[in-house]
Amino acid sequence: MKNLLVMKFGGTSMGSADRIRVAAGICAEQRQNRPAVAVVSAMSKITDLLLDSLRRAEAGDESGVDFNLHNLRERHHEACRAMLEGDARAATLVGVDALIADFRRICHGVRILGERPPRSVDEAVAIGERLSSLMMAAYMESTGVPARPVNGSSVIVTDALFGNASPLMEETRGRCAQVLAPMLADGILPVVTGFNGATADGRPTTLGRGGSDFSASILAASLDASELWIWTDVDGIMSADPRSVPDARVIEQVTYAEAAELAYNGAKVLHPRTLAPLVERQIPVWSKNSFHLAHPGTKIVPSTPATPGPRAVTSMANVALVSIEPASAAVTGARIMARALESLAAANAEVLAFSSSSYRQSFCFLVRNEELAPVMKNLEAALALELAHGYLKPIEVDQNVGLLAVVGEGMRGTPGLAGRIFMAISRQNVNIIAIAQGSSELTISIVVRRDGLERAIRAVHSECRLGAGAPGEIRDVAEPAQGR
Ligand code: ADP
Ligand code: ASP
Ligand code: MG
Repeated sequence: MKNLLVMKFGGTSMGSADRIRVAAGICAEQRQNRPAVAVVSAMSKITDLLLDSLRRAEAGDESGVDFNLHNLRERHHEACRAMLEGDARAATLVGVDALIADFRRICHGVRILGERPPRSVDEAVAIGERLSSLMMAAYMESTGVPARPVNGSSVIVTDALFGNASPLMEETRGRCAQVLAPMLADGILPVVTGFNGATADGRPTTLGRGGSDFSASILAASLDASELWIWTDVDGIMSADPRSVPDARVIEQVTYAEAAELAYNGAKVLHPRTLAPLVERQIPVWSKNSFHLAHPGTKIVPSTPATPGPRAVTSMANVALVSIEPASAAVTGARIMARALESLAAANAEVLAFSSSSYRQSFCFLVRNEELAPVMKNLEAALALELAHGYLKPIEVDQNVGLLAVVGEGMRGTPGLAGRIFMAISRQNVNIIAIAQGSSELTISIVVRRDGLERAIRAVHSECRLGAGAPGEIRDVAEPAQGR
């Protein structure tokens, strides 16, 4: 749709009545000039609360569930009371209570069953987003802006991988044309729930934690939006997570490829799958701060003027390094690798880094901790014979590690950069366990001990002069490290 703006508001941007007022104000202002769609997350910490309630229900902890439900109700009632009045308030409170009653029913079912069927979890956990969209649309209506809550499950069609579903783009495009386009044509602002979808036959799904960014990009692509703005609680994509690197600075522009690498390697500011639907149509994305409206944020674009050196560093702590080493020359390394990678694919696990070396063809790879159990199960089954006969050494798993990734298109063909990064890490007395760099030279992935991860990231950030006080400069990465 011509000139359409899709805007996503994250958990902190929806975290209270005051924050919802700000988000609604942004929407009202933008829709004066062009059609707009809002995509909303659950209020901050609500998804964790819902998941915790389901775990408690499974364990039979009825009073724990009741306590959580009380808090859930209080948080949303308080927001409604603070921003709505009269009939609008009464009607919204009824809607809030109906959704909480649905959640209670699912918890009850889980308690009786003694287990959490993934499909029920997805249905239950999306209630956080449904509460947000209900309140935001009601508030906008009360200020005279026509708005309607829309359940993402009516517009985003996905496969049936509950908890981490992928969109079926053609079907989703059709639903968007049926459901959202008529509202937009009538001047109504749809307030769509982030995070959730449904299979073509209507079974509820979710897109993975932090998935509201992905919902927004799916909708932006399906509606041929002209821009996507992602509103969060920092000034944009920064040279590092400001929580671990205090002098991290906002980057004016990054490419899709850089932003995708950063997200994939742990920069929480963007869900890893956000950019994929947008690349084909080259829809520009802005990352903006709803707590600091004057700041323009970061623009994510197809390409940027070349600046030598890295753009940003990122890290991931909840990871495991799996090492496999042949014990006999009788095994063919490539075959073992092929089977290991097959088992990772079958476990639906992502390989965060892969490295192989030595004439014995030992190799190691990094996966997320939460994917480790299915990965190990599949690996041990796939390599059972070789392990039993001693052709392979027992598989080693090290969970005491972290991943540091240095990202930037400008790293391509820059001699000396890797050396400087490794020196900076070793000056912190942090041992490098494994290294991987693809031939695209867009990312250098470095595995270090977990307890040295924060020091290493700060050291690399400072060595590459990514911090505040170095705005927009052309960095001379070939410059020797002495004297800084
Ligand atoms: P939202 O709820 O709006 O989706 P998130 O908490 O998911 O927000 O993401 C925003 C957070 O991402 C920031 O508060 C920041 O701590 C973290 N973050 C990690 N890496 C980066 C980075 N490179 N740039 C900006 N923020 C980052
Ligand atoms: N509310 C969901 C989560 O916390 C999705 C999101 O906020 O993006 O994971
Ligand atoms: Mg997020």
